[in-house]
Amino acid sequence: MTVRVPSKINLHLSVGDLREDGFHDLTTVFHALSLSDEVTVAVAEEPGLEISGEGAEDVPTGPDNLAWRAVEALAAHVGRTDPKVRVVVRKGIPVAGGMAGGSADAAATLVALSSLWKLDLGRDELAEIAATLGSDVPFALYGGTALGTGRGEQLVPVLSRHTFHWVLAFDHEGLSTPSVFGELDRLRENGNPPRVGSHAPVVEALASGDPRQLALLLGNDLQAAAVSLRPGLRRTLRAGVNAGALAGTVSGSGPTCAFLCADAETALEVAAELAGAGVCRTTRVAHGPVPGARFVTGDDVR
Ligand code: ATP
Repeated sequence: MTVRVPSKINLHLSVGDLREDGFHDLTTVFHALSLSDEVTVAVAEEPGLEISGEGAEDVPTGPDNLAWRAVEALAAHVGRTDPKVRVVVRKGIPVAGGMAGGSADAAATLVALSSLWKLDLGRDELAEIAATLGSDVPFALYGGTALGTGRGEQLVPVLSRHTFHWVLAFDHEGLSTPSVFGELDRLRENGNPPRVGSHAPVVEALASGDPRQLALLLGNDLQAAAVSLRPGLRRTLRAGVNAGALAGTVSGSGPTCAFLCADAETALEVAAELAGAGVCRTTRVAHGPVPGARFVTGDDVR
């Protein structure tokens, strides 16, 4: 049972002030990209998890792995103990890159395993389990483009009329999401870093399908914090625009930078130029929106 699952970028990410419980309210526009991971699950006498691909050496393979936590959550949901399954993850999404790769693997595992165990759970039921695993996990189930509120887990689909073309610039090392939020709190205590406005214009630009309009509106409150922790990102962002992208933004908590391009051909040119400019580890082209976790055979979840 093999499931392909998309990465995400945030076209808009507004972060509220630090709450008493240590969390932040978020308003975000998620956008699922064709850059993806694949997860295979199979019945096995020796349960466990294997990882290969992009950044695999940085991912825990024990009980902390989000894909394994998804196995345990689904088993608990249906009252199974000691799940005898093997999970194989092939990573294309950079680890700790702000593209929710771990969350994607958890979503893919829920879809694959519920089919392997013939549980007949719909996407909405899986999304309830997904939300207990992390705030980005439900979006990876649905994909597309969606407005996320709360901690990002309350989702409403957003109409997007166009396929948008992106270049992703991977950095040499990941950034920890909690440290980026911590840096934003620190910047806000000591000053007034810029805040993105309302998400409404982004939603309108998506409906119009005009990449030039959308490019003017990309915004991320975490960008200042990611750039503060990784000053080289400023150069990467500038280089993407100099290479011909319409605009660039830090994806989520970074350090991956996402560049919106006018079309697929320009994206290929920008990716090649950026890769040669020495401002990132490597580049990928991707398009969005794409659907959420689904079987590689093309079959959908009910
Ligand atoms: P976030 O969803 O918080 O924005 P991210 O996209 O920046 O996270 P991930 O690739 O999801 O980053 O990984 C964050 C951390 O989670 C990694 O440092 C890794 O140790 C851990 N992790 C656990 N399971 C996985 C997994 N299946 N794939 C990647 N990372 C995982």
